[in-house]
Amino acid sequence: MSLPRITIDLDRIDRNARRVRELYARRGVEIMGVTKAVLGCPRVGRALVRAGVATLADSRVENLERLRAGGVAARLVLLRTSPSVAARAVELADLSLNSELATLEALSAACTAAGRSHRVLLMAEMGDLREGVAPAELPALAAAAEALPGLEVAGIGCNLACFGGVAPDAAKMRQLSRLVERVEARIGRRLGIVSGGNSANHDWLVGGGGRGRIDSLRLGELLLLGRETLDRKIVPGLATDAFVLSAEVIESGVKPTAPAGPRGRDAFGELPAFADHGERPRALLALGRQDVRVRGLSPRGGARVLGASSDHLIVEPGRRPLAVGDVVDFDLDYAALLAAMTSPFVCKEFRAQ
Ligand SMILES: *Cc1c(COP(=O)(O)O)cnc(C)c1O
Repeated sequence: MSLPRITIDLDRIDRNARRVRELYARRGVEIMGVTKAVLGCPRVGRALVRAGVATLADSRVENLERLRAGGVAARLVLLRTSPSVAARAVELADLSLNSELATLEALSAACTAAGRSHRVLLMAEMGDLREGVAPAELPALAAAAEALPGLEVAGIGCNLACFGGVAPDAAKMRQLSRLVERVEARIGRRLGIVSGGNSANHDWLVGGGGRGRIDSLRLGELLLLGRETLDRKIVPGLATDAFVLSAEVIESGVKPTAPAGPRGRDAFGELPAFADHGERPRALLALGRQDVRVRGLSPRGGARVLGASSDHLIVEPGRRPLAVGDVVDFDLDYAALLAAMTSPFVCKEFRAQ
């Protein structure tokens, strides 16, 4: 088994997805399982489908292609669309998220060329300042999209807590509910999907204030890592350890805590501060910034991460002494998971009963 390695517990992902799906279904909200943190991994996709998540969503067509090629029996949604991916979007996805007329036109042309139809979810910009059109412009965009051959407006959505960190609270969700009515009045029919956001919407949904017209949420981190994302609180009953990263100790001993000699910047252009605590046990691990986002690592067994360069991680051992060849396990946050899954140096291994 090669190292570094990320072990993916498919049963834990399945259990998380089952619990969230049931909890959300009781509140009238359907979920899309977002797979971009695992690069559209078909085995994770299948675990989600087995748990009853019928729709999987990803921001990249390459990841949707992996899901399709892996035979995952789900409806696929493309979360980020552009003219250059329009043809593949129409081929792979039942639905895509959109906010530009030029892209909608490219999707329509791709539909005509392929003899297919495609559904679109139009995104409103509600204050977080990432994707979406101003709410006032959404009815006109919907009308324009409806007029394009091959396209059907399936619904509207918004995305919060990603760039501006804006909370998807009751006021924002009421605003989205009112907006759907304006769009429906403009196009003269009721829309089937109102997608209120992502894992940051969890507190709003379970808060019990009523969901308004929101009937769908797009969830990645909540299913995979068991946390809502506004305050990164653990959601009761969900596993946060479906992923574990393991790395090998390549040097172990006692070293001074303060650097010796005149100092400049470190390997990444930074000037870290050091306090002199004399000599302490130190372990060097074969893991670095080319494998993972080091700030998102939480070592198990009480060890402490002191820093890292491209290929070396410096650790202070906890209660358990570390010898050369030992393996240290780490829990991961979302950014670390994304980086580790994306690194070609990290071996991906699966665990299931
Ligand atoms: C990544 C993404 C999501 C999922 O976000 P999580 O915080 O992982 O739940 C939802 N919607 C869009 C548009 C995304 O890009």
